[in-house]
Amino acid sequence: IPATPAAEARTTCPYCGVGCGVLARVAADGEVTVRGDPDHPANFGRLCSKGAALGETTGHDGRLLAPEIGGRAASWNAALDVVARRFRETIDRHGPDSVAFYVSGQLLTEDYYVANKLMKGFIGSGNIDTNSRLCMASSVAGHRRAFGEDIVPGIYADLEEADLVVLTGSNAAWCHPVLYQRLLAAREERGTRIVVVDPRRTATADECDLHLAIEPGTDVLLFNGLLAHIAEGRALDRDFVASATSGFAEAVAAASAEASSPADVAAGCGLAEADVRLFYELFAATERSVTVYSQGVNQSAHGTDKVNAIINCHLATGRIGRPGMGPFSVTGQPNAMGGREVGGLANQLAAHMGFEQPADVDRVGRFWNAAGIARHAGLKAVDMFRAAGDGRVKALWIMGTNPAVSMPDAGRVRAALKACEFVVVSDVTRTDTTLHADVLLPAAAWGEKSGTVTNSERRLSRQRAFLQPAGSARADWRIICDVARRMGYADAFAFEGPAAIFREHAALSAYENDGERLFDIGALAGLDDAGYERFEPAFWPQQPGEGAGRLLGDGRFPTADGRARFVAVRQEGVALAVDGQRPIALNTGRSRDQWHTMTRTGRVPRLMANTPEPTLEIAPQDARREGLADGDLAHVSSRYGFVRAKVSISARQKPGSAFLPMHWSGQFAANAGAGSLATPTTDPFSGQPELKNVPVRIVRE
Ligand code: SF4
Repeated sequence: IPATPAAEARTTCPYCGVGCGVLARVAADGEVTVRGDPDHPANFGRLCSKGAALGETTGHDGRLLAPEIGGRAASWNAALDVVARRFRETIDRHGPDSVAFYVSGQLLTEDYYVANKLMKGFIGSGNIDTNSRLCMASSVAGHRRAFGEDIVPGIYADLEEADLVVLTGSNAAWCHPVLYQRLLAAREERGTRIVVVDPRRTATADECDLHLAIEPGTDVLLFNGLLAHIAEGRALDRDFVASATSGFAEAVAAASAEASSPADVAAGCGLAEADVRLFYELFAATERSVTVYSQGVNQSAHGTDKVNAIINCHLATGRIGRPGMGPFSVTGQPNAMGGREVGGLANQLAAHMGFEQPADVDRVGRFWNAAGIARHAGLKAVDMFRAAGDGRVKALWIMGTNPAVSMPDAGRVRAALKACEFVVVSDVTRTDTTLHADVLLPAAAWGEKSGTVTNSERRLSRQRAFLQPAGSARADWRIICDVARRMGYADAFAFEGPAAIFREHAALSAYENDGERLFDIGALAGLDDAGYERFEPAFWPQQPGEGAGRLLGDGRFPTADGRARFVAVRQEGVALAVDGQRPIALNTGRSRDQWHTMTRTGRVPRLMANTPEPTLEIAPQDARREGLADGDLAHVSSRYGFVRAKVSISARQKPGSAFLPMHWSGQFAANAGAGSLATPTTDPFSGQPELKNVPVRIVRE
């Protein structure tokens, strides 16, 4: 890679699931400047504040520059030998399920592919899970229940072609800014109505036509009421329901039993009845409706049911698979979708195949020539760290993520990392998690590594290297393959580069696939290295064309009978309710200018200037009751831990609720981070934890 490329490098932003194209240039003095790629179909040249500051994050400040063993610098050979030997010894002594990988939506698809192949194919355990479990696992589970496949039917253009966009559990203005800008620009043209469903008055809610500030955990009730309303009115698409779906009567019966009228729903959701009626009438009257959902829906002990409650409404109206219509999950991370494609989740196998069908396991085993392939799902994130804490998992490799801060009940996660016999961390910078590493491996960062990512609309794009790796940092795929070879799997991991890995990944998606499996990018298996280098953003499966038809638009779904499934869901509430001891429901989420645990954005002064310290937003009534003033230091405690944060009194918060950004940790404040407070209770279908609703007590420090 030339230190100073002659032209701008075409790459993609490493932050959110919008997946914006970025043009990066390195000046003679090493300064990196970026601009939005005008030809990338996700952003058409736009970038948000985080993306626009990418050039300021490529310095070597805080970077890991060399491997370490036991806190001392070591050679790559020595470090890789130790990792391979300790994993081999642990497996030989305790079996394949005694080891685990915890990976990240920051990995590129090629990194994910080889990590999954090593763990599931050759170590023979399902124990590889990803921090995407904290992000969109409930959407995956909801899609599979409804469509028979983890498929997002919509594309970004649908938000521009809709007349109504419902954003539920999504502060898109801050979390998916460029997609939100596209929506606002389209609204100027066509007068799109925007409804926001969120307990908090967010920046997104500021711009909407109707804000439904529901009580936390009442989403299912709201959408069940909508389904009951649709079932009684003209918006019901009887032909579509009869020809393309199953389970309608049961879903409507369940919905009507608890949401028989807008008045019931309003009372249960803490809303004005007139607002509920307005929403239902608006949705019923607007054929081109898109419902966008994100972490506010997914990060819940009942997130999968919430997803299905939303999808039910689109199935009942037949508003799916057509321009400007459909349910639309937007992911938090740049490659959450790519990870799903190659089996980054413990309950998936590879190429969208799973463990449920023995034929799938056999097929992948044949393709990989892996006789000892895992035959059952592995531990999901929360359970994986429990197992590390109680000794069932004895060797753990964490790649590109910071669970010591981001996991719920993070204090217990840190204790688990201390207790675990052998912890490997490969990452770009030092984090709260790297403190616990027995072996530390420096990974190549954005700008230094090459591969592909898949954004929220299922569009594959390239990330391209344009910088030399810092110090002796190496690409994740290479580190994983080097360990695999040392463990005795040289033939299966003899990849020369990410292009070769991508070709194998594409070939697996087409292997013994006569069209019965939707995920098929086999046409890309023939890309040579030059073709891979030139690769232009592309959908999988190929869309018929923006503005024309859409995936699933033919009314055929990838279920056994070809029909989409309504799912009968009931309102279950929150995992933990507030009580006299902890009377405030704490919501967690993102700030506009920060990314995850700030390992990258926290190093950019102009991004830090907006919110330089962790700030707790609290309603005026609650602040008065606790004697808190603006700027006070608050002590926020849940049954799992506590943090300190500066008080910001805000009428945006409903009385009885508060908000704390998820980003800060011991690195940037004398704090353990919001994850320390959150409950590890998980959704029974997806395993996703409830990060959004934490009963807390807030007092002046
Ligand atoms: Fe990056 Fe997301 Fe901002 Fe686009 S919207 S520049 S992908 S953070």
